Amino acid sequence: MTTVQPAHEDRDPHRIEKLCAEKGLKMTEQRRVIARVLSESDDHPDVELLYQRATEVDPRISIATVYRTVRLFEESEILTRHDFGDGRARYEEVSEDHHDHLINIETGEVIEFQNEEIEKLQDLVARELGYRLVDHRLELYGTPIKKDK
Ligand SMILES: [Zn+2]
Repeated sequence: MTTVQPAHEDRDPHRIEKLCAEKGLKMTEQRRVIARVLSESDDHPDVELLYQRATEVDPRISIATVYRTVRLFEESEILTRHDFGDGRARYEEVSEDHHDHLINIETGEVIEFQNEEIEKLQDLVARELGYRLVDHRLELYGTPIKKDK
């Protein structure tokens, strides 16, 4: 059975800032703004989109700062980077509960889902090949099926 992950509406907007503090990262005001924008983003934004959102809060933030900050957060294992086939790196917070992604290639919308059978099957494939599975990534690309009215 496939379950779609609900939007993370009730997440703490200071979550990423707290993670940064735990990891001992020095937090400048601009980094704080970018961290907050990331915490509030539920849509796997790329740097361009993060830059737009961050400059709405603080117009002095440059795109170079956004690049550097997401790279720092990625290296610190706060963010994870995805490539959903359009050549743009997209980011989301590292999460404890695993999910896979379905990408609507018409709109770019990203749906997060979990499927127990897929998880088991991937484990089985790895074991048949003589491996213990430690991680995986799965991306599905699709177009919405138009239903007749
Ligand atoms: Zn995701």
